Amino acid sequence: MTRATKIVATLGPASSSPEVLGKLIEAGIDVVRLNFSHGKPEDHRARVEALREAAKKRGRTVAVMADLQGPKIRIGKFADNRISIKAGQPFILDAACKLGNTERVGLDYPELIDDVQAGDVLLLDDGRTVFDIERIEGQEIFCINRHDGELSNNKGINKQGGGLSAPALTPKDMEDIRTAASLNVDYVAVSFPKSGADMRQARELLHEAGSDALVIAKIERVEAVENLEDILHATDGIMVARGDLAVEVGDAAVPSHQKRMIRMAREHNKFTITATQMMESMISSPVPTRAEVSDVANAVLDGTDAVMLSAETASGQYPVQTVEAMVRVCVEAEKTQEITLDTHFLNRVFTRIDQSIAMAALFTAFHLKVKAIAALTESGSTALWMSRLNSGVPVYALTPNVRTRYRVSAFRDVYPLLMDFSTKDRERLLWQAEEALLAAGVVEDGDLIVLTVGEPIGEAGSTNTLKIVKVGEHKPHPTPYLSI
Ligand code: PGA
Ligand code: MN
Repeated sequence: MTRATKIVATLGPASSSPEVLGKLIEAGIDVVRLNFSHGKPEDHRARVEALREAAKKRGRTVAVMADLQGPKIRIGKFADNRISIKAGQPFILDAACKLGNTERVGLDYPELIDDVQAGDVLLLDDGRTVFDIERIEGQEIFCINRHDGELSNNKGINKQGGGLSAPALTPKDMEDIRTAASLNVDYVAVSFPKSGADMRQARELLHEAGSDALVIAKIERVEAVENLEDILHATDGIMVARGDLAVEVGDAAVPSHQKRMIRMAREHNKFTITATQMMESMISSPVPTRAEVSDVANAVLDGTDAVMLSAETASGQYPVQTVEAMVRVCVEAEKTQEITLDTHFLNRVFTRIDQSIAMAALFTAFHLKVKAIAALTESGSTALWMSRLNSGVPVYALTPNVRTRYRVSAFRDVYPLLMDFSTKDRERLLWQAEEALLAAGVVEDGDLIVLTVGEPIGEAGSTNTLKIVKVGEHKPHPTPYLSI
């Protein structure tokens, strides 16, 4: 059973052993996420090595995404690790405070004081604690706590409505970019970007470190929602980072943002990962809630490329069952989705030959109801373009490039197949493409497929040719021999 929607699983203590990794791969993960908010570079290295080993053993392609911590603003530690606070109780955020108590706590980002004023609302611990700012005096932010509750070490702080000035890439992120490059990761997710410039900076740092990883903008700030268009021009993909986003824009606004973000990303030929709390209850339960099942299914129907698991697979009790449940929900949701080609490309002017061929191939494939599209591709771009319009036709990215094989892993309904492009014989190359699809079991003799390729064969160049093929009809003649 093919599944179009891809699954991203965060690795952590619950999913780092070769045994669990093997089971996650067999259950169907497409991308693993290394969360650089936790763990040391050695931990990430060991996980990547174990993953690659386990994937190789099973002949599977599993890509690696490094997720940078970004400027998460946090409170410091308490002398007793946690305190309880009462509704109406005054509390002070004080950058100079070393160890917190029931009156005040430190801050890891002293500049916060310049970004806030009386009347602002601070949300701590993903909104579980709400502080109204009363006044600011010197280096102290005087707040009033809204609800009875608890506050413990290093909890995150967001400002309601956004407006925190911290740059997207911290010195730690810059170091982590070098680590990610040395691990040869396929994707790098940037936390809290505010603009396209943040994404360009991340890409530049990656290039300097020798990496051509695709970059993913985590949309989790009010500014990023406002600047989505600008960000989409600079990034390869986006993540609907619902955890922090919900705190900044209000939880009720998230579902409509999710729909709009996915739609806009597709229109800009970018891919989307929908993230956070998708199967949250499965951290400690072997079955998802009805609401979680609906959430994952709705993300699929919204057109997301991938759905992501965080703590469920990183530290939960049922990592494998969670992936199995997610697979089940995705497959079922895909069956019910309506296949109507997105028509936003019809009025577009294409200036690139490869992009025009990709659109022509997709249109043809959709109307002829072919079994598959075989895109012979070096970079994977044609496969990405073809997968943006909901044609319902799977795209097989046939590539000689090992990097491309991994890079397309997150794209919806795109499947990588490694193939040798070294022959200069056109008929032979196209036949090899048919053979690759036959060997993968995705077509049979007599099926129609659409094939795209760059000619002349044997020379590096971009896609310029579209061919409709009946599988098995034109086997190349065996090498001719001279009869005497
Ligand atoms: P995080 O990002 O888990 O790294 O915070 C995702 C989110 O905010 O939803
Ligand atoms: Mn986040």
